Amino acid sequence: MQTILIKTSAIHGRGVFAARSFHEGEIILEIDDSHIVEDESTLTKEDWEFNVDCFDGKTVIMQEPERSINHSCDPNSYTRTVDGVRKVIARRDIVAGEELTYDFTINGDNEGAFPCHCGAKRCRGTYLGDFFKLPLEFQIEYLPYLEVWFVEQHRDRIAALMSSQDGVGCLISHGKE
Ligand SMILES: [Zn+2]
Repeated sequence: MQTILIKTSAIHGRGVFAARSFHEGEIILEIDDSHIVEDESTLTKEDWEFNVDCFDGKTVIMQEPERSINHSCDPNSYTRTVDGVRKVIARRDIVAGEELTYDFTINGDNEGAFPCHCGAKRCRGTYLGDFFKLPLEFQIEYLPYLEVWFVEQHRDRIAALMSSQDGVGCLISHGKE
């Protein structure tokens, strides 16, 4: 049975939609990160805007279907590296027909910025590529979704964030997964 499909999105361009329901915590798909960019000077402005993802010191050309997953300020999925493979995981129960989204700012440390039309009640209006520019309540909420490499690269800032809140439990449970 088909699990996802790509079609026109009300958020932006094409989107990825659930073809069946998913339970919270269920793996929706695996991301193909094998198309690593060796020479960033070959990338166009459009690549940077739509086709490229940067994480863990790598730059990769995104493939379908994950390339078409749109950003939301109140996402129903998140990404997590398990055994070296990034997976898209349901952040809550998802019904068939729902558009799949994740918040691009999670694990983000770039200068990207674009107007956001995600339609979420809590839409921030502008997407920013830097996790630490999120409103504090979002940073706290998203602590459990940070990847290990991101936490290691930004250890001091994460520690400061955690000491400002009782967020320790989030990272401990994160490490066990
Ligand atoms: Zn938004």
